[in-house]
Amino acid sequence: MIASVLPTYNRAPLAFVKGAGSWLEAADGRRFLDMGAGIAVNALGHSNPDLVATLTEQAGKLWHVSNLYQIPEQEALADKLVAESFADTVFFTNSGTEAAELAIKMARKYWYEKGQPERIEIITFEGAFHGRSTGAIAAAGSEKMVKGFGPLMPGFTHLKWGDHDALRAALTDKTAAVMIEPIQGEGGIRVVPDQCLKGLRDLCDETGALLIFDEVQCGVGRTGKLFAHEWAGVTPDIMMVAKGIGGGFPLGAVLATEEAASGMVAGSHGSTYGGNPLGCAVGGKVLDIVADPAFLDQVNARAGFMRQKLEALVAAHPATFEAVRGQGLMLGLKCTCAPADVVNAAYAQNLLTVPAADNVLRLLPALNISEADLAEAVARLDAAATQLEQG
Ligand SMILES: *Cc1c(COP(=O)(O)O)cnc(C)c1O
Repeated sequence: MIASVLPTYNRAPLAFVKGAGSWLEAADGRRFLDMGAGIAVNALGHSNPDLVATLTEQAGKLWHVSNLYQIPEQEALADKLVAESFADTVFFTNSGTEAAELAIKMARKYWYEKGQPERIEIITFEGAFHGRSTGAIAAAGSEKMVKGFGPLMPGFTHLKWGDHDALRAALTDKTAAVMIEPIQGEGGIRVVPDQCLKGLRDLCDETGALLIFDEVQCGVGRTGKLFAHEWAGVTPDIMMVAKGIGGGFPLGAVLATEEAASGMVAGSHGSTYGGNPLGCAVGGKVLDIVADPAFLDQVNARAGFMRQKLEALVAAHPATFEAVRGQGLMLGLKCTCAPADVVNAAYAQNLLTVPAADNVLRLLPALNISEADLAEAVARLDAAATQLEQG
């Protein structure tokens, strides 16, 4: 008999009843050190007191009114995002997938309104993940995600990772946009080198194609800058964010320049829940905390500390780990075995990690995790690797 919850997930036999900071507690009292943070979502840890206060205060006032009316909390968060980024305007969603949908629609509508309706093609990259809607799976195009769900939305060109010549050749007068994660998350913490992002920006400028960055996983302080592309010194025309922006409350957004957003007039897009007062109040608090330069300095310091510890871990366990990848607190360990084996061994050490493609184990802790907790996580990974190696 089918489970009452549609069985689309391979869940670990673990259920948590409460959390604080980087720690989660199971019903039987066992405490787990959380290096996954709800897949890069709990940017400020579990039950962060500032976020709890903001959420409960807003909950006592107003939750939802719909976008039929002005929403001051939404405007305040949009103003902050505009002030802190390349963007001139913001649309709020409830998830990364919905942000991907709008990014695709916005790029196509831009060219339609410019009198070039044939410019619909969107270039994406192997290993990409943009969500699970029909549009987002067509965009990523991986066999695993699309199989059985056809016919797929047409208009996507999938390129190999890091093939510059193929990219140059694929950019034509039919190209509406190029969509890329500055650091692939699900794809295995694959960092696009700064010079490649710069080259991509140049190619888009030459051909007119819009540049879309998917910062759903790598954005909002994760890499030690508010947005990952800041490291490369280039800006996109359109950007998706979600995950960390709500600190655990479902919230996403599409940020865009005035020019890129010019096709999106009244009535062209909408969402019932998107930008509700509850989510935007929480998102505003998250952004106030994460965008503070002192907070980002601390993320970079913790990241440097963790990186060193992880390099030592890899050196101590060449039978299990090959290399450290990533930037800031978006870190990956390339494994010699299936990363799920390491995830399972880590469970036995009361440590939560996240597998990714390309044999990579992801570490995506809360951005305000302490050095002591990071050191503890590495000690537990060391124990997990030792246990694996002893068979
Ligand atoms: C998680 C993720 C998405 C999808 O976000 P959801 O909130 O799960 O819909 C899209 N892009 C990237 C890069 C992601 O990591």
